[in-house]
Amino acid sequence: MSEPAKKTNPHLLAIDQGTTSSRAILFSAAGDVELVAQRELKLYYPNDGWVEQQADAIWADTQAVCREVIQAAEKQGMPIAALGITNQRETTVVWDKKTGQPVYNAIVWQDRRTANYCAELRAAGHEATLTEKTGLLLDPYFCATKIRWILNEVEGARARAEAGELLFGTIDCFLLWHLTGGKRHATDITNASRTAIFDIHEQCWDKQLLKLFDIPESLLPEVVDNTGDFGHSTNEALGAELPIAAMIGDQQSALVGQGCFAPGSIKSTYGTGCFMLMNTGTQALPSKHRLLTTVAYRLGGETHYALEGSIFVAGAAIQWLRDGLELFDDAAASEALAQTVENNGGVYFVPALTGLGAPYWRADARGMIVGITRDTNRGHIARAALEAQAYQTRDLVSAMQADGGSTPPVLRVDGGLVANALACQQLADTLQTSVEVPKIVEATAWGAASLAGLQAGVFYSVDDIAKVWQLDKGYRPASSAADADAQYAGWQQAINRLLD
Ligand code: ADP
Repeated sequence: MSEPAKKTNPHLLAIDQGTTSSRAILFSAAGDVELVAQRELKLYYPNDGWVEQQADAIWADTQAVCREVIQAAEKQGMPIAALGITNQRETTVVWDKKTGQPVYNAIVWQDRRTANYCAELRAAGHEATLTEKTGLLLDPYFCATKIRWILNEVEGARARAEAGELLFGTIDCFLLWHLTGGKRHATDITNASRTAIFDIHEQCWDKQLLKLFDIPESLLPEVVDNTGDFGHSTNEALGAELPIAAMIGDQQSALVGQGCFAPGSIKSTYGTGCFMLMNTGTQALPSKHRLLTTVAYRLGGETHYALEGSIFVAGAAIQWLRDGLELFDDAAASEALAQTVENNGGVYFVPALTGLGAPYWRADARGMIVGITRDTNRGHIARAALEAQAYQTRDLVSAMQADGGSTPPVLRVDGGLVANALACQQLADTLQTSVEVPKIVEATAWGAASLAGLQAGVFYSVDDIAKVWQLDKGYRPASSAADADAQYAGWQQAINRLLD
């Protein structure tokens, strides 16, 4: 950390615009959370499989939480050196270039409305080229088919797009445009890498894919590094002119926040779902096992890539035990309940409540509990739900290894579920690797804040950022590899039955 920075006591502001809330978090340069403001965000389900949000509300909420934190920081004498943005990825907005008015709601990453169109394109043999260029799969999850849907279905949108009147952006880009009073239409490379129209190797928008999805080039933002001079927030937007110095998608931001800069390092975030990213260095590893190849970050023009595995249901399985089965009132109580039994008693819970993600990608799969006997009780079910997180993670690690990734020496974890010691110990046992929970619980927001600090001179290098990372709790394998394999074999049997 630089001397001048230490003297001026700089703070770093992160905007963490997530699926369920918009937050502003003020960090000290040591990674301590000093101030937080948060607003819950509504999701709308106007049709089966459709998921939308009001883009206007996303901007208004972001503005409100930032103003709240900035004012409190001023009062408490905490100067803000720079602002970084991290965001829910793939959520798609198209807006009027002059007014900033969205032409349609934001279509959220979870939205499945373009599933049939994706299936048609797959049947027509388009997936291989798309995967080769973008590292992704032909799935409604990504932006391309969402943009096409807006242009085709919203009255007048295509004509206006072709006349150059509209802009597209993911949430980072939409927020930047508003923060700068419409001056800057740019997105960072991690967000661009989730659109399915961006070639992650050539690092440019891909003309062939734009043609396939019928998207005019005039809609597209400039693609930039994760750190840089993105402009300043206007007084009108935030009541302060702050340098915007970093933007990065949420899962990549957690990778940075966890200090996973070395090739082979892995982080796994266990919230509603689970997202695991392995830094593969400057090499983009193509996946033969249906993982995604994606940009981890680009700093100073140098691109690092990641392999990503996305599991749709992680903590959500515990929520279901709480709300659906009413086994307990509070997610944390799952641990004590699971501890009432010595082992899973042969019970396996495959929590495919909304389909199976990586490496299976079976949207039609549904959950399953197997191995129930007369002796099975609530404790076994809770234990099976917590163990499932470890087995799902091992599925991803195995796929990563099969794709040429190295064996992880350690797994850094974050998200709500890692408060559960039994789940973390199970992870260490199942993977036969060390599991580390950091002191910074807000790894995602800290990633964007620390990158803003890198740009602002609070940090000299990513090594400086990595040094901020501190261990809170570590877990080592307590069971033998043979026992772990035997337990995992039970899970694999359950999965195979489900896939049949
Ligand atoms: P998100 O950011 O996706 O909303 P969070 O990181 O806040 O998720 O984590 C919330 C999830 O973690 C919930 O699904 C909840 O069931 C689960 N969770 C929280 N605490 C615990 C716990 N002690 N044990 C098991 N699961 C937990």
